[in-house]
Amino acid sequence: MLGRSTHYWVILEKGTPVTHPHPHPLLDLPPLTAARFAAIERRVAALLGTRQDVVITQGEALLPLEGCIRSAARPGSTALNVITGPYGQTFGGWLRDAGAEVVDLEVPYHTAVTAEQVGRALAGHPAIDFVSLVHAEAATGNTNPVAEIGEVVRGHGALFMLDAVASVGAEPLLPDEWGVDLCVIGAQKAMGGPAGVSAVSVSARAWERMAANPAAPRRSYLSLLDWKERWIDGGRKALLHAPAQLEMLALEACLARIEEDGAETVMRRHRAAAAATRAGALALGGGLGPYVREAREAAPVATTLRTPGGTDASELVAAALTADGSLPLVAGGGALAGEMIRVNHYGADATPDVVLASLTGLGRALREKGVQANTEEALETANETWKSFIS
Ligand SMILES: *Cc1c(COP(=O)(O)O)cnc(C)c1O
Repeated sequence: MLGRSTHYWVILEKGTPVTHPHPHPLLDLPPLTAARFAAIERRVAALLGTRQDVVITQGEALLPLEGCIRSAARPGSTALNVITGPYGQTFGGWLRDAGAEVVDLEVPYHTAVTAEQVGRALAGHPAIDFVSLVHAEAATGNTNPVAEIGEVVRGHGALFMLDAVASVGAEPLLPDEWGVDLCVIGAQKAMGGPAGVSAVSVSARAWERMAANPAAPRRSYLSLLDWKERWIDGGRKALLHAPAQLEMLALEACLARIEEDGAETVMRRHRAAAAATRAGALALGGGLGPYVREAREAAPVATTLRTPGGTDASELVAAALTADGSLPLVAGGGALAGEMIRVNHYGADATPDVVLASLTGLGRALREKGVQANTEEALETANETWKSFIS
């Protein structure tokens, strides 16, 4: 009898088990078929409610974001890069690398950008033919009004790229309705999946723009056109390389779970987590408060908090994590490390228990630093707020 061992074929004695001596659920996976890959793409398209082509990219979401920019922008392009957090900064670098003229529109990170501001920038620079925008910013806690902005961008005729990594699953995302040409998502935030897989929906207009760009990456891991020409135009029969099974299976499982729970339910959990965290933090007192000033501009995926004067966000987070290392708390990145705390209540952490435990941890940390904090009041307020989301 022939059996497959770890690395080689061997003749097995009669009765020898053919399974690996050390089976493991993540190892020895069979290759993922093209048909299954295509089926997962269709489910991503359904999640986004899009009729456009979906390309699954087997890497962290920065892969399709960089691929989109390097494919669509070129010398002679003028790009409006809206900066409402750190990812916008990154996009500006890639746009300049691609040779585009870049108009930066930066707003303070405690607010969202408005369609009016985008409209003014477009009117001031008629040559703009590409707009990049982040939908929700997990890093700064704001979310931008994409429907209204999309209308303005469409009116101008520019190609519209949206980073929806932190909004997918947490809040409504309607790329077709909003006129988004390139909509990038990742599995690792509200979808509750791994960071190693992402996807982008691509409009016909965006494919045309890329095809007309001689500098667009080809024969490259960054190339979206390779997937268009060899996978999509070939009828989704042959994959470009061995698919990353673990990530693809995990993405499939994320989609199944969202389909089972209902996208509306998953989004409601994130909205409830954000509202409860915001209200609870205010009730905690001691000067802790929401970083994003207007509740309607606060992202459902994560809540950012401004620390009381005289305290340091990194120290407060370290104190809270010393007592409970499982809390989804991090200090803001870079210059925000002193003044901003992020509560990453997304995916598995979009639950009342996690929100209440986070508030408890923050209350304890504040008191340790000599700041008055009313944890009981905070928990009661957060609990009541959460309940108001349950119909
Ligand atoms: C999380 C996130 C990404 C992915 O980047 P990471 O550095 O892996 O976190 C991209 N864009 C946005 C808006 C995100 O929130």
